[in-house]
Amino acid sequence: MSSNEPVVKADPKVLSGLDHYLTLPAAQQPTWPDAEAVKAVRETLAKYPPLVFAGEVDILKGRLAEAASGKAFLLQGGDCAETFVDATADRIRARVKTLLQMAVVLTYGASMPVIKMGRMAGQFAKPRSSDTETREGLTLPAYRGDAVNGYDFTEESRIPNPNRLLQAYNTSASTLNLIRAFTMGGFADLRSVHEWNKGFTDNPANSRYEVMARDIDRAIKFMAACGADFNELRTTEFYTSHEGLLFDYERSMTRIDSRTGTPYDTSGHFIWIGERTRQLDGAHVDFLSRVRNPIGVKLGPSTSVDDLMALVEKLDPEREPGRLTFITRMGASQIRDALPKLVEAVKKSDAQPLWITDPMHGNGITTKNGYKSRRFDDVMDEVRGFFEVHRELGTFPGGVHVELTGDDVAECLGGSEHIDEKTLESRYESLCDPRLNHSQSLELAFLVAEELAVR
Ligand code: PEP
Ligand code: MN
Repeated sequence: MSSNEPVVKADPKVLSGLDHYLTLPAAQQPTWPDAEAVKAVRETLAKYPPLVFAGEVDILKGRLAEAASGKAFLLQGGDCAETFVDATADRIRARVKTLLQMAVVLTYGASMPVIKMGRMAGQFAKPRSSDTETREGLTLPAYRGDAVNGYDFTEESRIPNPNRLLQAYNTSASTLNLIRAFTMGGFADLRSVHEWNKGFTDNPANSRYEVMARDIDRAIKFMAACGADFNELRTTEFYTSHEGLLFDYERSMTRIDSRTGTPYDTSGHFIWIGERTRQLDGAHVDFLSRVRNPIGVKLGPSTSVDDLMALVEKLDPEREPGRLTFITRMGASQIRDALPKLVEAVKKSDAQPLWITDPMHGNGITTKNGYKSRRFDDVMDEVRGFFEVHRELGTFPGGVHVELTGDDVAECLGGSEHIDEKTLESRYESLCDPRLNHSQSLELAFLVAEELAVR
């Protein structure tokens, strides 16, 4: 923000409203052992610079509004849970490259602008179905993500430690710095479309990508020969997102924008509310209703029309374009039954949220050898179901939300590499939910591009 812009002070009512969540039930918060230590961490975080800027957040909101009206498509992806040890240059680069490749497949296949967004630079906190975990008679607090405690099953590691919130901030800052360097410093130049395919193990999706990249290359060279030189090819916008779960972090990162006097959660561009914390009278919905970021809400198969419309009312009372995204995660077997009534109810109202599909979280299974997994065929089927429902109702299927990694892991079953249960034993790395690997991610992008092209 330039210094000659007017500085607008926040209305005191807005400021006190930000803390209204404190009077409401807050699900999924850690039990910190030392309240004084948490307070000190909150004060420290509140003094740190914002990770993202209000102006960027507003631009994203405009892009999401385009997607909601059928003129763009949102690609959102990354780890289920980021970890501090894996925030290395190589792993971040592999994830960014995978997302850039998927985005090219979608842009080229569907001739449509694609909004790129990572589940990155802040996805360090996890909701859990149980507060504790028991192994061989020993019961300890459940792992709630690196922002809260460690994964090792020892008392020392599992007791929540608020200093981890500071490490979450620092790791987010360095991750975001690298993302900005990659996407603004030449690495994301469309003339390097082939380069992004290098460094991954050979796989069938890779080869399909290579053929497409050759076509794109030829088209770019043709345009260049004609004298066209688009700046748009050199850099790309890339946004960050995570689940807004921990108030000690999100509230501390919320700042008043000096241009408008309104609050922005500066921990990430886009913040979503999880399936387990979207209670209408709960703290998460209240808090996020008061910040200006675009907000997502996960919707599982039990979502009622009444709850859906009440969420619209609370989170988007002004019906602001781009403000609200519904991320449906119904499961392949339920999407065709559970989604139509929700989309229809919204269609009849004056709301225009962006609808995107999360084909991961409704399709969890446990394999015979004890791995949390997902079948790639189920993931693909939920994506198809999502497109079918929207096609039938004449509404726009505006994006996908996936858990993926650029690394050569084996966590989801199937795909063109035919990953089986046995293979999970050698290449399963996720501390939380199973992710699509590089090849499965590209395959998914090709399917989505095909669905978008026949829309
Ligand atoms: C997640 O996105 O990792 C998650 C926990 O999802 P959901 O809230 O949809 O279960
Ligand atoms: Mn997950």
